[in-house]
Amino acid sequence: MAAEAKRILMVEDEKAIRDAVAAYLERDGFWVRSVGDGQSALEEFGRHSFDLVILDLMLPKLSGERVCRAIRDSSDVPIIMLTAKGEVEDRIVGLELGADDYLVKPFSPRELIARVRALLRRVRYEQEPPMEVLDFGDLKVDISGHKVTVDGKLVDLTASEFKLLVTLARYPGRVYTRMELVEKVLGYDFEGYERTIDSHVKNLRAKLGDDPRNPKWLYTVHGVGYRFEVPQNGSLAS
Ligand code: CA
Repeated sequence: MAAEAKRILMVEDEKAIRDAVAAYLERDGFWVRSVGDGQSALEEFGRHSFDLVILDLMLPKLSGERVCRAIRDSSDVPIIMLTAKGEVEDRIVGLELGADDYLVKPFSPRELIARVRALLRRVRYEQEPPMEVLDFGDLKVDISGHKVTVDGKLVDLTASEFKLLVTLARYPGRVYTRMELVEKVLGYDFEGYERTIDSHVKNLRAKLGDDPRNPKWLYTVHGVGYRFEVPQNGSLAS
């Protein structure tokens, strides 16, 4: 028996893009509702339950920004933000509004589908109970024991470096802005500390032996922040 189709709300005012994406998603087995403005998006969101929302940032009637905030007031539904210009600020705005991922126009429907699938997988993973030990093969992060090993050797991390690593490694592939990391790792909400995160990342890389020019785990997302990746040959222990 086929699994129930995942339900997607597609919000985009450019009809050609909206129709193309909806057709592509439907062909891929998704159940899709598509609307062309922010007001209709919120009405539609209130009418059905959705597994994921694709949200254009620039929308008539109610901006994508306001739609995103309104959805986040009541829901953790995964949101992919579509940004027109590809401006770094737009991407940061999207992530800080609570979007989970962003895609810069023009994008291929194939890329969008890949992002949708990846995000749905990630959400499923996040909903599972937290693992006490994050096991990435040669890198092991023992959260309750506050211990990190690389190739079986203990790595001596400061409390902030440990928190930073755990924050990133819990959700591989998720991009964290510097501001998010400041809040999560340092616990304050102040822009001047973004550089502090850069130096923590630098120290963490040195201690793990992760080369920033050819990273294995810690990736810089230029102008935005950082993300953790599971190396292709590594796997998450179940
Ligand atoms: Ca638009």
